[in-house]
Amino acid sequence: MKTPVVYSPDHALHDADTGTWVGVTIPSEEVPARIETIVATLRASGREVVPAVSHDDSILTAIHDSDFVEYLRDAYAQWVAWGYVDDPGQPQVTAYAFPTNRVLGPHPLRLPTSPGALAGVYAMDTMTQIGKGTFAGARAAVDAAQTAADLVIAGSPSAYAACRPPGHHAGAGFFGGSCYLNNAAVAAQTICDAGLGRVAIIDLDAHHGNGTQQIFYERSDVLYGSVHVDPARGWFPHFVGHADEIGSGDGQGANLNVPIEPGEGDEAWLGGVDTLVEFAQSAGVTGVVVSLGVDAAISDPESPLQITEAGFAKAGERVASLALPTVFIQEGGYDLATLGALVRATLDGFDDGRGF
Ligand SMILES: [Zn+2]
Repeated sequence: MKTPVVYSPDHALHDADTGTWVGVTIPSEEVPARIETIVATLRASGREVVPAVSHDDSILTAIHDSDFVEYLRDAYAQWVAWGYVDDPGQPQVTAYAFPTNRVLGPHPLRLPTSPGALAGVYAMDTMTQIGKGTFAGARAAVDAAQTAADLVIAGSPSAYAACRPPGHHAGAGFFGGSCYLNNAAVAAQTICDAGLGRVAIIDLDAHHGNGTQQIFYERSDVLYGSVHVDPARGWFPHFVGHADEIGSGDGQGANLNVPIEPGEGDEAWLGGVDTLVEFAQSAGVTGVVVSLGVDAAISDPESPLQITEAGFAKAGERVASLALPTVFIQEGGYDLATLGALVRATLDGFDDGRGF
């Protein structure tokens, strides 16, 4: 059976159209058209499209801090109630002050009353704003991820969640990098909860999934591995994603980062994919979650990597060589003209590799 596609139209409720980057308001590239073009391409290629099923909130607090989930749920209403939409005229929740460790020193964090400062408690950047439908859209993405995991638990060899906003930069208690709730972590946790054993998350997005890494850093039941542009070369998420981050406590050895140089193409990137596949294989995992960002593509405006469509097909094949239940979760990828074809190539490569 070709990998089915899980979709919820509610992703479009999240349509935060601008963000602030180095003080400049820029158009968001994380737009609803991304998922629509991917799903249209996959549907046209004959794949089954399955509606996402709505779930209760228990998975949210299994992954995220409960105060963070409540914050995301209420942030827009607080912003409106405070009057920021009219004065100074900012329609979306935007952080302006950050209580970093250096700022707080020995003093405990006390939650501020101003919504702009409160956003700084939970945000990792100023680019990722919260609009009217952001929580509903992010919640729909979680439902899509959880539904894809449910399909695999029920016996489907694989499933792909066509979800946005993406999730891999969202940690237990923070949002950023266009991510709010961590969809890949939801899928991995759902598989673990079903008793299917240990899971490896293989992150193919051009950026390091710092949120996913943080969530599972001290756990041995969910491995995290990522191939991405070296953050030391000036790339988001800047602060983490280095090769010496290997997990800690029970999770020591369960985290593997493969940073690669800006400008690299298929050979170096696929070498990284192979390293991650071997990592999962040697750990004896029984399930795989792929954080499928396609922003490493040569055509993508967000990445300095040069990966071809054929390279993505090969990556799909390499993941298929594990011959394990596999859930694909959409992460980044921003070139609307090629996005659908890149995802299709990856899933076709996977399905061919599995003989579907
Ligand atoms: Zn990315």
